[in-house]
Amino acid sequence: MIAAGDAILFVAPDWFRNIAEADRRMASMVTTRDGQHVMRAWGDTTTLMPGATEEPWHDFGPTRVQRACDDDYDLCAMASLRASGLWGGSLQAVLGLCLLGGLAGVGVNSLLGASRRRRASLEARLTRVIRNDRLRVVYQPLRRLSDRGLVGFEALVRWTTASGDDVPPDVFVRLAEASGLGRSLARQVVRKAFTEMAPVLRADAGLYLGINLTAEDLLDAQFHEYLDEQAAHHGIAATSVVLEITERSTAMRDDLVRNIRHLRAKGYRFYIDDFGTGYSSLDYLATLPLDAVKIDKLFTQAAGSDSVVGQIFEPMCTMAMALRVGIVVEGIETEQQARHVCRVAPQAIGQGWLLGRPVAIDDLPKT
Ligand code: C2E
Ligand code: MG
Ligand code: MG
Repeated sequence: MIAAGDAILFVAPDWFRNIAEADRRMASMVTTRDGQHVMRAWGDTTTLMPGATEEPWHDFGPTRVQRACDDDYDLCAMASLRASGLWGGSLQAVLGLCLLGGLAGVGVNSLLGASRRRRASLEARLTRVIRNDRLRVVYQPLRRLSDRGLVGFEALVRWTTASGDDVPPDVFVRLAEASGLGRSLARQVVRKAFTEMAPVLRADAGLYLGINLTAEDLLDAQFHEYLDEQAAHHGIAATSVVLEITERSTAMRDDLVRNIRHLRAKGYRFYIDDFGTGYSSLDYLATLPLDAVKIDKLFTQAAGSDSVVGQIFEPMCTMAMALRVGIVVEGIETEQQARHVCRVAPQAIGQGWLLGRPVAIDDLPKT
């Protein structure tokens, strides 16, 4: 599986089997450009030294080694064939090999080409949408599980294309970050969400607004200023705002911790999103100044089942309690899940279809 941007290419494991087994004098390898990571290898690869040369081909004794790298992706293919191997085989085998190689090349190239074109067009459209201020924000309610009382809303960004298709935020938020539009997106969401939610938050100090941020936003001093300015402009107390970042954002750990401390000192609260899906060490979690963890829906939806994922739910809650932080449980879709969560963590806050779908500002539930 090779991933780049929003495209994933799966190569069926059986694809090359016949070629590799057809001639024992052939060897091949798919690696990263520097050769540090070997994705697949076939045959005796001792003559293949990934990353050793930029040359498209060279001879190694009686063996010819050929190398080709993709221009845009960190992906190289190398193959070697002993001299007698090629000409020693039947003409049919040689022709078959060439044909298969050609077909595989055309197939992979057209796949990568199509994905590149799609990405470029999506990026151009996203740039226009952000510039023209056309992203929307919807709000999903968060409720205490004990009595289902409303405690706040999470702002979730939405992009509907001119042809009426919804592009998932998981896709376009990442695309925005990768193409340098992340700063504008974060500001647009903050401005829109603050403008729309200000009357609700001013009317009830017990409610909070959750905003999803990336690590880059948190590390950006100008973004902090923007957040403060917008909060002041709309009369929203910092204590009514919760900042969420995913557990995967572990880059620049010390800077991140310093910035989070700074924001928390001003009153903003701070949640770790998608808890359990990242790879942070416990030590990292223990040092992060947190108010709550949001347990990912992956665990909620399997909770109470015999599966490994399901069995992790309870220890995760125990861990959060040991860290003395609050628990928000994502992805509650059924009464059964809500009851299970309530038994394990009676003080938890819940989010999910059962407790309320994300809605536009005019459709917010009042209780
Ligand atoms: P998230 O922050 O974990 O948001 C919760 C996601 O779970 C939302 O998906 C929500 O619609 C979905 N969800 C809520 N309840 C349920 C449920 O009961 N069942 C299921 N299956 N799903 C549920 P959405 O809106 O597609 O957002 C996906 C992710 O995109 C968010 O995950 C967040 O990481 C990111 N995102 C959304 N808005 C923003 C934004 O303004 N800025 C940034 N940086 N990221 C955002
Ligand atoms: Mg979130
Ligand atoms: Mg989440």
